[in-house]
Amino acid sequence: MAEKEELNWLEECGFGPKVMKSMKVCPHCGTVVDNEHRVCPDCGMRLLTKTLYDRYRERHLCCDKCGTVLADDSRYCPHCGNSLYLKVSGG
Ligand SMILES: [Zn+2]
Ligand SMILES: [Zn+2]
Repeated sequence: MAEKEELNWLEECGFGPKVMKSMKVCPHCGTVVDNEHRVCPDCGMRLLTKTLYDRYRERHLCCDKCGTVLADDSRYCPHCGNSLYLKVSGG
C-alpha cells in the first residue's frame, strides 16, 4: 500500500483532522453526523456548532500549526516541530 493511500484510508476511518473537522457528534444519542447537518437525523436533536475536532481539541493537546493531536505531556509537535507551552488547568 502506498503511503498516500494509507493516509487516505486513515482519513476515511476518521483519524485525520480534516475528517474530524467535517463531523459532529449528537449530544443526545452520540450519532456521528456530517458537519452540514443542523439537526440529528437519528433523534432530531439540535446539534452544536462544534465539530468532532473541536471537541477532541478540548480534551487533548493539539498543535496550533498543523492540527496534529499530541500526547498531553508533549513539549513540541513531532510533526512540524512547533514548540508548545503547556496550559496548566489548575483552577
Ligand atoms: Zn441524535
Ligand atoms: Zn505541528
